[in-house]
Amino acid sequence: MAENYFKTYPDSKGFFKEYGGAFLPPELDAEMKKISDAYFKISKSHDFITELRSIRKHYQGRPTPVYYCSRLSQKYGGRIYLKREDLNHTGAHKLNHCMGEALLAKYLGKKKLIAETGAGQHGVALATAAAYFGLECEIHMGEVDIKKAHPNVVRMKILGATVVPVTHGLKTLKEAVDSAFEAYLKDPINTIYCIGSVVGPHPFPMMVRDFQRIVGIEAREQFLEMTGELPDNVVACVGGGSNAMGIFSAFLDDQECAIYGVEPGGKSLHIGDHAATMTLGTPGIIHGFKCYVLQDEKGEPLPVYSIASGLDYPGVGPEHSMLKDLKRIKYEHVSDAECLDAFYELSRLEGIIPALESAHAVAYALKLAQKNPQKSVLVNLSGRGDKDIDFVVDNFEMPQ
Ligand SMILES: *Cc1c(COP(=O)(O)O)cnc(C)c1O
Repeated sequence: MAENYFKTYPDSKGFFKEYGGAFLPPELDAEMKKISDAYFKISKSHDFITELRSIRKHYQGRPTPVYYCSRLSQKYGGRIYLKREDLNHTGAHKLNHCMGEALLAKYLGKKKLIAETGAGQHGVALATAAAYFGLECEIHMGEVDIKKAHPNVVRMKILGATVVPVTHGLKTLKEAVDSAFEAYLKDPINTIYCIGSVVGPHPFPMMVRDFQRIVGIEAREQFLEMTGELPDNVVACVGGGSNAMGIFSAFLDDQECAIYGVEPGGKSLHIGDHAATMTLGTPGIIHGFKCYVLQDEKGEPLPVYSIASGLDYPGVGPEHSMLKDLKRIKYEHVSDAECLDAFYELSRLEGIIPALESAHAVAYALKLAQKNPQKSVLVNLSGRGDKDIDFVVDNFEMPQ
C-alpha cells in the first residue's frame, strides 16, 4: 500500500490523503491536539502496552477464535470462516477501543469519561471500561433513543454510569453528539471524550483504528495457522468502520486478499431508507472531519436508516474513504431482507446468533461463497445478536 502504511496514514494533521483532519472551533481544536500529543507519547510506552495486553487477555478474553463454518460452507459453497468478536467480553468488538480509550484516560489522570450513544452499544462498552478503571462515566443519549433502547439504558445504569437524556431537536444521535461535546468542553481537565468508531476529528480515527488492529493481527495469524494460506476474501460490516478497519488493517498489503466493506442497503436505495454512505455519498464534512457523506445540495446530512442501529450513520471513517478512492477496498451493500436471511442461516446452521450489524457481513459472504465456491472468506463477526432478538421476532415473521 505504502512503505510503512501505519506511519504514513494519517499524516501529522490527521489526514488520510484528503480525508479526516480536524475542522473544529479553536477551543476544541486545542483539546484535540493535547489528546493527540499525549496519545503518541503514552501509547508507545512499555507500561501502557503491557497493561493493555494484560487487560485483553485476562479481562476481555482475547484472543478470540477464528472458526470454520462447516455446515454453512457445505450449503453455500466456498470455505467460510468467522473471526469471533462476538465472544469478546460484552459481546462485541467495541470494548477493544473503549478499554484503550479508558486506559489512556487513566494515564492522563482523567476522572470522567464522556460520550454519546445512539442505540446504546457504545455507551454500554464505555460504562464497562469505566467500571473496570474506577472512572466516572456520563453518557448522553437522545430521549427517543432512550425509549427505543431501554435494556441498554438499564445496563449502563447497573454499571454505574449516568445517562443524560437529550431533549432538544430530533432527540437522537446528532443532538447527543452536540450535548456530549458541550459537557466535555465545560471541564476538559478532568474529563475525556471517548468516540465510538473510527470517526470524528483527529486523533480519534487513528486511535480507534490502532486499538482495533488487534482483531486483524490475531485473525491473520490464526487463519495462516489453520489453513497454511491467507484468505481469498475478507469481509466486514461498515457503520463508522471500526470493526472493519480492525480486521482489514492486517490484510492491506496482501494483494492476493480481496477486501469488502458491507454497508446497510436498508429497505431500498431511496433517501431515508438506507445508510449506504460509500455507495451513494459524496465527500463532505461532518462532525469535524472530512469523509464520504450522505448529504443534500446544501451539505446537510440526509436522514439514514438501517435494520441494524449500529450502522445508521450518514458519514464513515476517513481511512475507509481513502481506501475506497485507492480502490484497495470494495464497498458493497446488502438489504434488510438479505441481512435477516443471514441472521437465521448462521443461527440455524452453526448455532451462532449474530448481531444484525454483523449479519450484513455474513450476508455478503454468502453471496461471495456462492459465486466462488473454490475460494475462502474470512468474516469479522463483530458482535452477538442477543440484543436484537426481541426486535427481530416482534417485527418480522420467523421462517419455518
Ligand atoms: C457498533 C457496531 C457496529 C458498527 O460500528 P463500526 O464502527 O462500523 O464497527 C458493528 N457491529 C456491532 C456488533 C456493533 O455493535
